[in-house]
Amino acid sequence: MKPGNEILSGYGTTVFEVMSRLAMEHGTINLGQGFPDDNGPDDVRDVAARTVLEGPNQYPPMLGVPELRQAVAAHNKRFYGVDVDWQTEVMVTSGATEALAACMFALLDHGDEVVLFEPLYDSYLPIVRRAGAVPKLVRLEPPDWRLPMDQLAAAFSDKTKMVLLNNPMNPTGKVFTADELAAIAKLVEQHDAYALCDEVYEHIYYEGAAFTSFMTLPGMRQRTLRIGSAGKTFSLTGWKVGYTTAPPDLLGLVAKAHQFLTFTTAPNLQKAVAYGLGKDDAYFSGLASEMQRKRDLIRTGLLGVGFDVAVCDGTYFINADFRPLGFDGDDVAFCRHITENAGVTALPVSAFYQGGGVGHLARFCFSKQDSVLEEAVDRLDKFFR
Ligand code: PMP
Ligand code: GLN
Repeated sequence: MKPGNEILSGYGTTVFEVMSRLAMEHGTINLGQGFPDDNGPDDVRDVAARTVLEGPNQYPPMLGVPELRQAVAAHNKRFYGVDVDWQTEVMVTSGATEALAACMFALLDHGDEVVLFEPLYDSYLPIVRRAGAVPKLVRLEPPDWRLPMDQLAAAFSDKTKMVLLNNPMNPTGKVFTADELAAIAKLVEQHDAYALCDEVYEHIYYEGAAFTSFMTLPGMRQRTLRIGSAGKTFSLTGWKVGYTTAPPDLLGLVAKAHQFLTFTTAPNLQKAVAYGLGKDDAYFSGLASEMQRKRDLIRTGLLGVGFDVAVCDGTYFINADFRPLGFDGDDVAFCRHITENAGVTALPVSAFYQGGGVGHLARFCFSKQDSVLEEAVDRLDKFFR
């Protein structure tokens, strides 16, 4: 048989799937793969259910149903003060994952360079490479995940086409500071680059951190492609409804990729997400305060077990350093060990670094019911005592 694609065939199965399978096999509390364990807001699901029954159920317009594009534009105005033309500047995709792929396939060519920040979400590098571009990685280190400004500047060159920024950032739980964002924006401007901004956790950040949408920085609106996801904003990860906001010329290019990837996304889910984006401010602030409470719960629990924990200002992931527990092995071994023996699953953070080097952190997802988090901490506590 002839070989598969040279780039994609070189990757194994994603860590999310590998660890979720292992969690299922051992019947553990799965705090590995990131997904909430509730069902999402009742009213949003109700709109989806009604729309499935009443229709429409045929192909919606390629850019998305008008209601959702209008809702995304209104959401941009409400939360970020940015005027967006829903007809030419918004496109709906099948999740943020498709949006990321569409943006990269639309804009990158062979030899272009893309600046990315490690540790990074697992779909980024395969797509950069498949698009023929060359990744330039800037490495953030625990426990405070500060952006090294010298490395940042060194990552840019006259070949830089794009910077891919995830803020709030998975898996670190970092929210980029105003100074860090300004430094990135300055380099984007200097190198005439695009900013692809994965802002799927835009509503999940905590007291003391201020999330700034990159498109609001001076000069960045016309260079930014901003991605959001109903998976995170409405705790409906299985729906795979994403949305991209970009100036008309860029969005037009992205639509050319989208039309050949998925073309459209389920119309009923789009209508329900449109309804959801119109929910009152209390829904969005409630999401953040609820997750902050859960972060505090697991943070206190993990510290009590004896872990050190890294800073977590946003997302629903917290990273725990297991060295104080005296475990003799790396993070992959640790995550396997607690899955097989303590009944709790977490993810090895080294899976998010291309170059390795950080082998002492386990990522715990805390978008779970309090009782589940308490039981997980209890199991770890009993096991390590
Ligand atoms: N980007 C980041 C940083 C994520 O954590 C996720 C969550 N899976 C995604 C993109 C993908 O989002 P979606 O499920 O909407 O494709
Ligand atoms: N975003 C989620 C995480 O980081 C899961 C993504 C996935 O399963 N592909 O865990």
